[in-house]
Amino acid sequence: MNARRGWIEVVCGSMFSGKTEELIRRLNRAKIARQRVEIFKPALDTRYHELDVVSHNANSIRSTPIPIAQEMLLLAGSCDVVGVDEAQFFDESLVDVCVQLANRGSRVIVAGLDMDFLGKPFGPMPALMAVAEYVTKVHAVCVCCGEIASYSFRITASESKILLGETDSYEARCRPCFLDGMREKNTEPTSAAAKH
Ligand code: ADP
Ligand code: MG
Repeated sequence: MNARRGWIEVVCGSMFSGKTEELIRRLNRAKIARQRVEIFKPALDTRYHELDVVSHNANSIRSTPIPIAQEMLLLAGSCDVVGVDEAQFFDESLVDVCVQLANRGSRVIVAGLDMDFLGKPFGPMPALMAVAEYVTKVHAVCVCCGEIASYSFRITASESKILLGETDSYEARCRPCFLDGMREKNTEPTSAAAKH
């Protein structure tokens, strides 16, 4: 039997739900236990810092930006704990990479958005949740009504699936307030149509 026992943990939820905060908390505790920890994020996510993973309440931890998930197999070596933030931006191959790392005996903690701005499952997250031993869904606070929020509502008009942004582009909303916002968006005249 493999002497080192690996597993996969997923931390998911909407924007501002505390995914990065929770990832940093778990990784810091592993460091306190003197475990070897490596943290990765997709190279395209450089919103706050090139190298750090930073939460909305300004906690941060040093990370390695990588263009493709496979790089983790080389860089994580024989780490005890491997953390991944913004996992939704990697492609499906992240799932197999996480499984391989866990099979090698690493504890893999993956944080990412479970849904995109349309409320649809995001990238490799659904498959990761399926293969994980532990799944934690964290929640934000709805900026409209104060209820628990699971949706990331895009305030801007962009239709691109990937739009890096902050409070100027997205807000956390509960289901009814998300649906209200989507209805309003769909009934608003587009800027092109409004000109005529
Ligand atoms: P995530 O990684 O899920 O986007 P972070 O861990 O970066 O979230 O940030 C969580 C922090 O965001 C909270 O502790 C809080 O300080 C802040 N925050 C800002 N807006 C909200 C909101 N609408 N609901 C909850 N937390 C919010
Ligand atoms: Mg985050």
